[in-house]
Amino acid sequence: IKHKLGAIVGKVIAIANQKGGVGKTTTAVNVAASMAATRRKVLLIDLDPQGNATMGSGIDKFDVDATSYELLIEEQPADKVIVTETTGKYHLIPANGDVTAAEIKLMELFARETRLRNALAPIRDYYDYIFIDCPPSLNQLTVNALGAADSVLVPMQCEYYALEGLTALMDTIRKLASVVNPELKIEGVLRTMYDPRNRLANDVSEQLKRHFGEQVYRTVIPRNVRLAEAPSFGAPAMYYEKSSTGSKAYLALAGEILRRRDKEQQSVAQAAS
Ligand code: ADP
Ligand code: MG
Repeated sequence: IKHKLGAIVGKVIAIANQKGGVGKTTTAVNVAASMAATRRKVLLIDLDPQGNATMGSGIDKFDVDATSYELLIEEQPADKVIVTETTGKYHLIPANGDVTAAEIKLMELFARETRLRNALAPIRDYYDYIFIDCPPSLNQLTVNALGAADSVLVPMQCEYYALEGLTALMDTIRKLASVVNPELKIEGVLRTMYDPRNRLANDVSEQLKRHFGEQVYRTVIPRNVRLAEAPSFGAPAMYYEKSSTGSKAYLALAGEILRRRDKEQQSVAQAAS
């Protein structure tokens, strides 16, 4: 891997929510592909032992030489565990059942919260974006993701208890962050599997905007069967059915993430001048 000279250091975004089935992996795979399609260099790290992001990237999780286990526990250099031939045109650090052992071993290790951060340090400036697909719990793997990340993207479904869950998650993120990574920011809250005809979803969405304001992405990910089908073809939706509403929504999300970063950098530049 050759490094970009004078480049802005890559932004690391953890995709986290302790709830399962809210669209973390779907978001990880599709936002990575959409970002790569804008000619950004992208790395996706699969930290979930289920390996869904790996399979959804067209990589057979049973047929990989190394996974995030080797990166975290065996201290193999990141560029040795990266797979470059994904269907989504991004690079991938895969996961499979082996990663379950990483979760357990991490508990015994020294400096266990910063292992992913340290492992990524040598390759960070090669990428524009590094996305981390977290497992559905606040375990040591998620703690490592939050320790390595600049920001957290929280996918959520607009359901009845969603706001309560989200407030609890934000508190946990804040507490964790104050210990392992004080610089950690909330990248944004993403409404997933959205059905505009559902009144409850609309109500929850309104409350969400009231509570979290600008942190809620304008882009909404609709419930779209193509997004659910694409993983069984081992591809992000844009390479399965480009014209699908799901594929378009994730392209829009990538655009929104880029615009937010531009704005941030402008205000940093202004503050400095
Ligand atoms: P998580 O990683 O949070 O557990 P997933 O991304 O695996 O969640 O999504 C859970 C299930 O919902 C999967 O079967 C996925 O294909 C499906 N799914 C996710 N997002 C959508 C969507 N916008 N429309 C339809 N199905 C979706
Ligand atoms: Mg998942």
